[in-house]
Amino acid sequence: MKFSSIEGHEKSIRTLQRAIANNALAHAYLFSGQAGIGKKKAAFALAAAVNCLNARPEGGCGECPSCRKVDTLGHPDVHVLVPDGDEIKIDQIRQVQADFALKPFEGAKKVLIVDNAESMNAAASNAFLKTLEEPPGDALIILITAMPQGLLPTIRSRCQEIMFHPLPRNTLARALVQRRGLSEEDAWFIAALAQGSMGRGLEMDIAAEKAAREEVAALWSGLAEMGPGEALALAETIAKDRERLERLIEIGVEELRDALVYRVTGEERLLVHAEAQQLSRQMAERYSLPRLLADMDLFMASRNLLDRRVSAQLVTENLLLKFGRG
Ligand SMILES: [Zn+2]
Repeated sequence: MKFSSIEGHEKSIRTLQRAIANNALAHAYLFSGQAGIGKKKAAFALAAAVNCLNARPEGGCGECPSCRKVDTLGHPDVHVLVPDGDEIKIDQIRQVQADFALKPFEGAKKVLIVDNAESMNAAASNAFLKTLEEPPGDALIILITAMPQGLLPTIRSRCQEIMFHPLPRNTLARALVQRRGLSEEDAWFIAALAQGSMGRGLEMDIAAEKAAREEVAALWSGLAEMGPGEALALAETIAKDRERLERLIEIGVEELRDALVYRVTGEERLLVHAEAQQLSRQMAERYSLPRLLADMDLFMASRNLLDRRVSAQLVTENLLLKFGRG
């Protein structure tokens, strides 16, 4: 992995490149930001950069034996720590400390990457703090977390924090066209759903996402024709499949958001999905703003009730009886 292969995050990467060029790297970094946006890639690129055989100020070459070993987890001086089960345990930290006491084996620096660093348990955190307080001279520590507030403040304060922000929708869409060979329209759709995460954008199943939205659209247009008896019968069926219900609510919120955006801005470009645009546009044209807002409240309230373990059937009945009838 080299810095130039990472999508977006220019500012964070420039900070690291400047530190490399000025020989001013911190002993410990904390890469924070939501899951799947490229923190781990940046950590591997940094680990490769400090050990690259053709090192340049802008980072590693990505091709020399050292860079290749970093990528395949085969570099003897680059260690990656991941939770053992749910936690990072003290034995794992002790092993690292023993290794840090040795000189680099073949690289210039020992590098430790700790993924999901917030999962260090109390004993591991306290042991790790010792390493941060007296970092070995030629070691580089990179903590990765989506929950920096889950780390001990004393650990956090001893690291230089580099924040990774969600990728803008157009950056993500462009990258998805290139990397997944998607059409512009599909890429734009997936980029909205992935919420700034390249990892999520690469994994998302387009057909399944579209099918789920079509199901919601069919349900909504059907509901308008239904009497309360039919709506209650339908609620009973839907409530039996919790996952489907949650998905339906999630998509409902998303569609209503689109309808509200369209209603207020009249801009199709801002909407999530071209096919759903039709639905959102119809809703925006047919319903008043207070009515759209009331429906949005209804969906948000349904989600909260489900989170608080209120009966799925009650929540669904309430939703189907009230939706679009406010
Ligand atoms: Zn290299």
